[in-house]
Amino acid sequence: MRPDPLPGPALARPAGRRARAPLVSPALFDFWARRLSPTWSWNQPLARVVAREQAASDAVSLVLKPNRHFRGFQPGQHVNLGVEVDGRRLVRSYSPSAPATADGSFRITVKAIQGGKVSRFLHDHAKAGDVFTLGQAFGDLALPPEGDGPRLLLAAGSGITPMMAIFASLARRPDPAPTTLLYSTRTRGQRCFVDELRAIAAANPALQVRFLLTRDRAVAGDEAEGRLDAGLLAPWLDASAHVLACGPTGFVDAARKLLVDGSARFAAESFSPPVFENTDTGTVELTLARSGRTLVVPRGQPLLDALEAAGLSPAHGCRRGLCNTCACTKPAGATRHLLTGDVEHEPVSALRLCVNSARSDLVLDL
Ligand SMILES: Cc1cc2nc3c(=O)[nH]c(=O)nc-3n(C[C@H](O)[C@H](O)[C@H](O)COP(=O)(O)OP(=O)(O)OC[C@H]3O[C@@H](n4cnc5c(N)ncnc54)[C@H](O)[C@@H]3O)c2cc1C
Repeated sequence: MRPDPLPGPALARPAGRRARAPLVSPALFDFWARRLSPTWSWNQPLARVVAREQAASDAVSLVLKPNRHFRGFQPGQHVNLGVEVDGRRLVRSYSPSAPATADGSFRITVKAIQGGKVSRFLHDHAKAGDVFTLGQAFGDLALPPEGDGPRLLLAAGSGITPMMAIFASLARRPDPAPTTLLYSTRTRGQRCFVDELRAIAAANPALQVRFLLTRDRAVAGDEAEGRLDAGLLAPWLDASAHVLACGPTGFVDAARKLLVDGSARFAAESFSPPVFENTDTGTVELTLARSGRTLVVPRGQPLLDALEAAGLSPAHGCRRGLCNTCACTKPAGATRHLLTGDVEHEPVSALRLCVNSARSDLVLDL
C-alpha cells in the first residue's frame, strides 16, 4: 500500500519515523494537518471516499482510499467505520467486498436498513471526497489453505460482502480449489455483484456461483428458487468440505443445522444485531476509576449501552464482541458475558463492554 504523503515541515514532521511523538499534541497536529489534507493524521486511520456506485436496489458500494495508518486486511475480514450523522459520531462494521487494489483502496458495500442511521446515511448521502475514520481490520472468517477439500461459501443479504472478497481473491490464484458460492436474496433486484460473479465463474471452471431467490422465479441456469435445504447442500455433506457462511442469524442458523453434522469444517458470522438474554434484575454501582465518576446501572444491560445511556461515549465498534475496540480493564466486580452466560468474578484486563453486563458493584478503568 502506498502511504499518503506526510504534511509539510510547518507541522514538525518527525525525522523519518525516528521521533515517536509530534512536537505538538497529536490532537493539535491532526487539527492543522487535516486543514492541509483531510486524511492526514498523526496516528488515526482515515479513509476518503473516491467513488460510489449503486450496487443493488437497496445497496451502495463505496471505494475508500485509506491513509498510511491503516494496516490492510485479509479478504473475509471487517473494518469499523466512524461516520458523523446529525452531529453524532457513529461507528458500524463493514466488510470489504473486494480485495484491496495496488494503491490500498478497497470497496465496501452497504445495504440500507429500514430506520438504520448509518446505512441509510451512507446509502443516501455518502459521496466522493467524504472522509470517515477507520479501525484496523478484524475477524477470523478465512479460507483454509489450498488443496484441503472442496469449499462452499454461503451468503445471504449483506453477508455477500466478505464472500465476494474471498471469491474474488480465489480468482486471482493460479489454480484454486473447487469452490461454489451460493448467494441467497429475496429478489433479483437485491443482488449485488451479479456480473462480477458470473464473469469470475465463466473465466475459472473451479469457481462456481449459484443464485438462490426466495421471492422471485428462477430464470437463468445459475438460479434456483426457495430457501437453503438438504437437497441444495447435499454435495457438501461430506466431512472433507469447508463451509463458510455469512448472513442474517436465521440464515446462518439454518445452514449450521443442515451442515454441521455432515461437514466437519463450518465457520460462520452473522451481521444481525445479537439478541441478549437478560436474566439479571436490579441495579449496581459502577465506578469509573480514571474519571472518578460513579453511576448506577441496571444489571443485565450491556455495559456499553449503560455507559452511553449515562451520556458517556466509550470507544466501541461492532457491538457484538468481535472487534475488541471497547475492551477495557475491570479491576474489581463480577460481570456476565451476555452471549455465553458465563460469570467472571476475577479482575480482567480486556473486558468487552458491548457483550458484558454488571452482576455486582463494579470498577472499570475508564
Ligand atoms: C462484522 C460485521 C460486518 C458487517 N459488514 C456489513 C457489510 O459489509 N455491509 C452491510 O450492509 N452491513 C454490514 N454489517 C452491518 C452493519 O454494521 C450495520 O449493523 C448496518 O449497516 C445497520 O446499521 P445502521 O446504523 O443503519 O442501523 P441502526 O441505526 O444501528 O439500527 C436500526 C435498526 O436496524 C436494525 N439493524 C441493525 N443492523 C442490522 C442488520 N445488520 N441487519 C438487520 N437489521 C439491523 C437494528 O436492530 C435497529 O432496529 C456488518 C456487521 C458486522 C457486525
